[in-house]
Amino acid sequence: MGSDGVLFVIFCLALVCGIVGWFVGAPKKAEKPGMLLGFLLGPIGILIVAVAFDQREKCPACKTPINDGATICPACKTSLKMSDGGNPAKKQPATPKMPLSENELKALLGKFKNP
Ligand SMILES: [Zn+2]
Repeated sequence: MGSDGVLFVIFCLALVCGIVGWFVGAPKKAEKPGMLLGFLLGPIGILIVAVAFDQREKCPACKTPINDGATICPACKTSLKMSDGGNPAKKQPATPKMPLSENELKALLGKFKNP
């Protein structure tokens, strides 16, 4: 096995580490940096991704990373209310209000009737 073979093995290992890094980063929304770090740094990169990377939202109460779509913090059971309009049912159109009260309307109509 010449130096080309060694390079090939190293490349394959880097590729495998990149894939592993992708899967390590995936649950933390860090697939791409995970893959990159795994590919470039190998097991060290995977370790960095596993320990340092977490791009999920954090619980406002206890700072535990929260998975997408979760409504309750798994650690402290705080209910998580997303501020970015994740609940479309909340946005109800305001009930249309009459611009004039009934008496004002009558007075107005009376003016037209008796100029
Ligand atoms: Zn919490």
